[in-house]
Amino acid sequence: MPAGFTEINAGRGFVGRLATGGDLVEEIERFCAEHGILAAQVTVIGAVRRACYAYYEQHDRRYRELQTDTHHEIVGFTGNISLREDRPFLHAHATFADASGATVGGHLLRGCEVFAAEVMIREITGVSLVRVHDDETGLALW
Ligand code: ZN
Repeated sequence: MPAGFTEINAGRGFVGRLATGGDLVEEIERFCAEHGILAAQVTVIGAVRRACYAYYEQHDRRYRELQTDTHHEIVGFTGNISLREDRPFLHAHATFADASGATVGGHLLRGCEVFAAEVMIREITGVSLVRVHDDETGLALW
């Protein structure tokens, strides 16, 4: 998909709660795979026991991985589902707040351990979202 916009349609909607101790990214991707959700908007509120996220170094074209093992609230989470290597892939950015209210965040990675997570998934239809390598950014984009 080149830069620009495409009109989409609303598909099914799902709400759910993830099990304590689960992996935030893997559980959402698993649900989408099991329900044939190929494109969607995803939001989450809740808390994690461990947060794993990354910062994309634009010059070096690689992710710098970050992690915190203290308990954090999920105070912001926006993501989307698209297809990567023929499977539903969650691309999400999240903000986490600690006991003092200080926040960290970035590109969400596997390894976030759920304490509690309320998830809303809004399927979109009328578009094929497939990630392919983009030479200009070094990222796998729609
Ligand atoms: Zn990202």
